[in-house]
Amino acid sequence: MNSLEQKLKDPKLCRSIVGRINEELDGELRFMEVCGTHTVSIFQSGVRSLLPDGIIHLSGPGCPVCVTHEREVAAFLDLAERKDVIVATFGDLMRVPGPNKRNLKAAQAEGARIKVVYSPFDAVNLAKEHPGDKVVFLGVGFETTAPTIAATIKIAQEAGVNNFLVLSFHKLVPPVMKVLVEDPELAVNAFMLPGHVCMVSGLEPYRFLADKHGIPAVVTGFEPVDILRSILTFIRMRNKGEAAVTNGYVRAVADGGNPKAQAIMNEVFEPCDALFRGMGSIPAAGLGIREAYGDFDAIRALGLTLPDVPPLAGCKCGDVLRGKIRPDECPLFKKVCTPANPVGPCMVSTEGSCAAYYKYQI
Ligand code: SF4
Repeated sequence: MNSLEQKLKDPKLCRSIVGRINEELDGELRFMEVCGTHTVSIFQSGVRSLLPDGIIHLSGPGCPVCVTHEREVAAFLDLAERKDVIVATFGDLMRVPGPNKRNLKAAQAEGARIKVVYSPFDAVNLAKEHPGDKVVFLGVGFETTAPTIAATIKIAQEAGVNNFLVLSFHKLVPPVMKVLVEDPELAVNAFMLPGHVCMVSGLEPYRFLADKHGIPAVVTGFEPVDILRSILTFIRMRNKGEAAVTNGYVRAVADGGNPKAQAIMNEVFEPCDALFRGMGSIPAAGLGIREAYGDFDAIRALGLTLPDVPPLAGCKCGDVLRGKIRPDECPLFKKVCTPANPVGPCMVSTEGSCAAYYKYQI
């Protein structure tokens, strides 16, 4: 651990910031993070247990696995059943439940050709090794992963790998936050903005939170001191009657983001409507593959459709993702739904808030 990392985990410094939070907190503060890595950090580091009762922490729709819609999982399963298709995916999608609680792991056990890869480039190599098949990479994730997938498509094009396809269900964070803040039932006073996503997008797409809705938002790193400092910033802004979008993660995030990553993402993808688990279709919240790269688009090339499937019975992931209920308020939590037998994606993903509540015994 280098000295900066040590400082950002320093218990003495953490206690001192918590002391200031206690002194300066006036009333209740309900903050939401919209990043699966923040969810894990806040629980794992013990920060949550240091916070005074007046601070309510909610986890929003920032875990890519949690927001994957059951209709999207139905499309994965459709692909898995095709004889000329090899599905390439990151491992965390294998257990995400779709129609009738069926998932890719079950399909694999029944003989579907599904390969877990560690990088989308592995999927291109798989396509080279299987020229008689189509290798379809399942593209999920937010602005953090989309530029890498875009680069992979360009590499496949340059290398003439014509049997590599991407099923793009990538999602964008700002449009779903827009839906959250326009929900009259949402009582969130401040947003912790996703550090990794902001490395790509910068701060600009989030200015509407403060400018239009008067909600403070801070781009936040993942160490305990980062998280506590952001909470103190929310309190100080509120006490002064101010709201701004600020950068609390300057060691990694430039205010303008990463122009190269933005350029490649915008070259290959274009905004489209996207389905979010428990939230339905959100305008311009997804990334579809542009026509210029249509040969690599699994939807176009294979004529994929998203079948209408009923939501999972009893699962309240949508309400959890919108901050309307805590995971332990779902009637299935710990009783029917556990990490060993997950009913919804928020219990499947290691970054899901239901899994975090379960693991850390909240
Ligand atoms: S506890 Fe299980 S069923 Fe309930 S919201 Fe969480 S994942 Fe869904």
